[in-house]
Amino acid sequence: MSLYKKAWLFVSVSVTVLAALLFGMPLLDRVLGTFSFLVFGLYILGQGLVAIAFFNCPQCDLSPFMGSKGLFSSYSIFPRKTCGHCGHGHTHSDLSEP
Ligand SMILES: [Zn+2]
Repeated sequence: MSLYKKAWLFVSVSVTVLAALLFGMPLLDRVLGTFSFLVFGLYILGQGLVAIAFFNCPQCDLSPFMGSKGLFSSYSIFPRKTCGHCGHGHTHSDLSEP
């Protein structure tokens, strides 16, 4: 599976979980109280960190969710088809993987 497809799979799963959290907020609020907002915030923060840390370009380790290297680059919730740093195409599956 290519990095682009993996990243889209991650986006679809995280959006589904986010929708479930949003619609389950009254229930979550009843169970955890004000602590539920902390859980919600930590989930959003963790999701962004996972997107940057675990999805990397095979050539330059830049996340497909980032526009370029460096702290002040553009971030996107959708993955890029080509790498913003080295131009590697993420839609092609890696030859090392079956
Ligand atoms: Zn790259």
